[in-house]
Amino acid sequence: MTSFEQEYKRVMKGYTLAYSGGICFCLLPLLSEAGCDHGFTQRFGGVSPAPMDSLNLGHNRPDDPKNIDENYKRFARAAGFALDSAAIVNYCHGDGVEVATGHERGYGFPGGPRFPECDGLVTADPNVTLITLHADCMPVFLFDPVKKVGGMVHAGWKGASLRIGKKAVLRMISEFGCDSRDVLAGIGPSICQDCFEVDDDVHSIFAEAFPKAECSIYDDARQKYLIDLWKIMAAQLVEAGIEPQHIQISGQCTCCNADYFSYRRDKKLYGGTGAMAAYLRV
Ligand SMILES: [Zn+2]
Repeated sequence: MTSFEQEYKRVMKGYTLAYSGGICFCLLPLLSEAGCDHGFTQRFGGVSPAPMDSLNLGHNRPDDPKNIDENYKRFARAAGFALDSAAIVNYCHGDGVEVATGHERGYGFPGGPRFPECDGLVTADPNVTLITLHADCMPVFLFDPVKKVGGMVHAGWKGASLRIGKKAVLRMISEFGCDSRDVLAGIGPSICQDCFEVDDDVHSIFAEAFPKAECSIYDDARQKYLIDLWKIMAAQLVEAGIEPQHIQISGQCTCCNADYFSYRRDKKLYGGTGAMAAYLRV
């Protein structure tokens, strides 16, 4: 057994649900207990019609901007942050990480200033609410309770293969002097291994990038590889120096669970889907 297989046994699984203002949030208890204000929205509680029903928070979706504005108001009220404190990631399925300061409050709304393309945001400013958007891609919550520094990552399979999670932790270290042994990490609702079936092209990218993590199985019946993206993320967080027992995986699959939007599931059925948001404040 490789050393990572031993370490992976110490990674925790678990989540809690919290209801507020008609919206259900998925939380990671490991982060909640450390005083990290964070959450991940489910699809209910908004005003958008099908197939964006109903709490669509993706400005890039074919949805009436008035619906999305109302959804953001409800989301911010329910989560308890001022809407003008939000700093929304400008995701591109890459590996860029940007620092959000008070100056970047309000970034990412239509017609306003935006971050350069990036999939990770880090901050030490308690007046900033980091926001990433998801519909199967992993939300990765990072929190250093000692230095009061946080990070949010949007990680699809491409970003995961490029080690966006590890790069966000390294940015917390280089920018704010965090010690990786203090950092807590949560991997929120996203596509599970059984739902993430791929062909040899994608499988070979992971086999090459993560030779030590046993992250895939071949399903003979489907003639597809099944990739465990949660394990891939945990492996790179451990590479960045995070203790395995400081990582928690929610275990909630967006594609299996109809309480969430799922790009992979809903694209086949409806041609598209809405986006959920993850938020984090230090
Ligand atoms: Zn699933």
